[in-house]
Amino acid sequence: MRLTVLGRSPARPNPGEACAGYLVEGGGARVLVDVGPGVVAQLLRRHHPAELDAVVVSHMHADHMLDLVTLRYVYPWRRLAADERLRVVLPPGSADQLLDLARGVGGARHFEDAFTLREHDGATPVTFGSMTMTPRETQHYIPCWGFRAEGDGRRLAYTADTAPCDGLTELAEGADLLLSEATLRSLDEDAQPPEPRGHLSPAEAGTAASEGGALRLVLTHLPVDGAGVAWARSAASATFGSDVEIAEPGQTYEI
Ligand SMILES: [Zn+2]
Ligand SMILES: [Zn+2]
Repeated sequence: MRLTVLGRSPARPNPGEACAGYLVEGGGARVLVDVGPGVVAQLLRRHHPAELDAVVVSHMHADHMLDLVTLRYVYPWRRLAADERLRVVLPPGSADQLLDLARGVGGARHFEDAFTLREHDGATPVTFGSMTMTPRETQHYIPCWGFRAEGDGRRLAYTADTAPCDGLTELAEGADLLLSEATLRSLDEDAQPPEPRGHLSPAEAGTAASEGGALRLVLTHLPVDGAGVAWARSAASATFGSDVEIAEPGQTYEI
């Protein structure tokens, strides 16, 4: 399998970088997982969307899906034949939100003329070629699903957005590579009790990867500013018990 980072920014973008977007290739398939602001411009440096088997959206926060609007403009402005449309796999219960977004940007048919929109059911593996992606619900501010992608005998897990939870631990289990969010510079940045939390610190990502027995941990969805990322890498490496990598835009990771 191969993972290519198109964007690693959290909701507030790192200067010059896209928000969440990852190309996952395996089992003869190529899937774009999440499509946040700026991701389509990065995708087009490598592939036309027609070269994708599908787009998969983890949850309906803007930093993970808003570039679906942009993606539609890559296609001709007409109703495409069914076999020309791009398959888009959405989280359960998101169809109405997407319709609202379509209306907000110009018309109710904005997406459906170019995309085949389907919600997954929150549990059943979704198949692309011989690659499967199994959704696992995480703990976030809105409903969110991470994915365990399996193909070519390898396993890549993506946490999407999450606080520490059982879903996160299960995603980490047996992963050859765990791509984990690490949005928080400190726990003060997360929701405070009694509000439920929704993100991870680098140290918590390392703990989850260690508990799940993941072989490799790559941190993403983290703020990159003047302070650099060395602190995040060392904090996560301390709890993971081994060296941790930081997702680099444009970089491909062989799994
Ligand atoms: Zn989110
Ligand atoms: Zn996010």
